[in-house]
Amino acid sequence: MLQITAREIADITGGRLVAGATGDELVTGTARIDSRDVARGDLFAAFLGERVDGHDYVGAAQEAGAALALVARETTVPAVLVADVRTALWDLARAQLERARQENPELVVLAITGSAGKTGAKDLLGTILRTAGETIAPAGSFNNELGLPLTVLRLGAGTRFLVLEMGARGIGHIAQLTDIARPDISLVLNVGSAHLGEFGSVEAIARAKGELVEALAPEGRAVLNAEDRLVAGMAGRSAAPVLTWGFTTGDVRGQDLALDDDARVSFTLVVPEGLQTLRGEPIGAGSFPVRPDLLGEHQAANVLAALTAALSAGADLAAATAALDGAKLATGQRMEALRAGGALVIDDAYNANPDSMRQALKTLAHLGRGHRTIAVLGEMLEMGPDSVRLHDEIGRLAVRLNIGQLYVVGDGAAPIHHGASLEGSFGGESEYLDTVDEALAVLKRVVAPGDVVLLKSSRDAGLRQIARPLIEHL
Ligand code: ATP
Ligand code: MG
Repeated sequence: MLQITAREIADITGGRLVAGATGDELVTGTARIDSRDVARGDLFAAFLGERVDGHDYVGAAQEAGAALALVARETTVPAVLVADVRTALWDLARAQLERARQENPELVVLAITGSAGKTGAKDLLGTILRTAGETIAPAGSFNNELGLPLTVLRLGAGTRFLVLEMGARGIGHIAQLTDIARPDISLVLNVGSAHLGEFGSVEAIARAKGELVEALAPEGRAVLNAEDRLVAGMAGRSAAPVLTWGFTTGDVRGQDLALDDDARVSFTLVVPEGLQTLRGEPIGAGSFPVRPDLLGEHQAANVLAALTAALSAGADLAAATAALDGAKLATGQRMEALRAGGALVIDDAYNANPDSMRQALKTLAHLGRGHRTIAVLGEMLEMGPDSVRLHDEIGRLAVRLNIGQLYVVGDGAAPIHHGASLEGSFGGESEYLDTVDEALAVLKRVVAPGDVVLLKSSRDAGLRQIARPLIEHL
């Protein structure tokens, strides 16, 4: 965080200095909500969570070196008392970003949204932009009204690029996030079926994601997927110039998209003459090989998107593509390849919707040449009234793709098993298992050297508990 005193924080948040705070306490670190993460000079924000109340930990935070606490009720350590800690963090993030922009006109704020791939694209942007300057793009998925201000508050005096992930569960959500942190570059990846249940239609999802583009000032830049009709259509909502990317159309192109035997994606980046960065500098032109260590064709779009946004932000073309050589995602459990005992386990159990399920199964099928493939699938949550049909279709797809063995885990995912069993004479190769523990026990028994195993479900379906013990066992 930019250095700030307790008095300034009180002014910005409309709060009051309490418990002996003089106002001169100086925050030099960042904002933390978990006292175990606190380091010297941090601001500890006390949140009332579902299970714990941060106010019970202000003492621990102080012992860990916190310079100040931000609280919603009287405490025993020097603090700023506010009516609501969350909105206080929003105000603080907004003010600190404004100050950073004034002190450092070079600062570029990039925001990413889309139905799938935000975290991946954010990680890739981090990898690329670090070659051009100090970059904040923390591992993980901090895309909501709490994670976003905490990310903004990591801003330092020397920060050149701030990369923010923005998620939407409804209309107005992204507008709220851009009100805290207005982007210079808005990157929209895709509009798919994630959170379809809450939105009702893909058009409604597009309306919500497009708020990221509407937040741009005329001197900003929209970076849009030319191949996604609903994303490309957002150009009309942008006051800023638009740069598009795609494999068949768009300003910045990917060509010769390929998967090697290990399902690692590669392509050639083709940048034509005449494109400009956000600040009006020439981007440069040419063809460059792009070879990250990422599994699955769907990752290519995220890589190309990240490149287009990074070039818009001023990254050097040759350095940007070189930085991606062998690059992995900083955040785990997104098609993360783990190897043990001669088997390959792909941990993709953080997030699931029909689009990413299809992509993951296709990647598994690609890896199946000469290997036995095992798909362990759990429920895709928040799918709304079509949930049963969408799961059923995934089961049928698994059969059509010739996946060797399917394990369907948990009640909500059962229609995957039904779909697979009905699709062909493959009923015997799909097995329904009640619990994650059962699935782990079965996998420990059956996984053999040479096998390729995919673990995929929504996060709360629990399959993310499997990879680690399975790998340790293998
Ligand atoms: P969240 O909403 O949970 O923050 P996210 O948008 O950040 O999700 P990631 O965590 O990057 O998305 O990826 C989630 C899943 O989607 C992973 O399984 C990933 O492989 C897959 N995925 C990424 N990009 C695409 C894409 N373009 N099409 C389909 N699936 C994708
Ligand atoms: Mg994410």
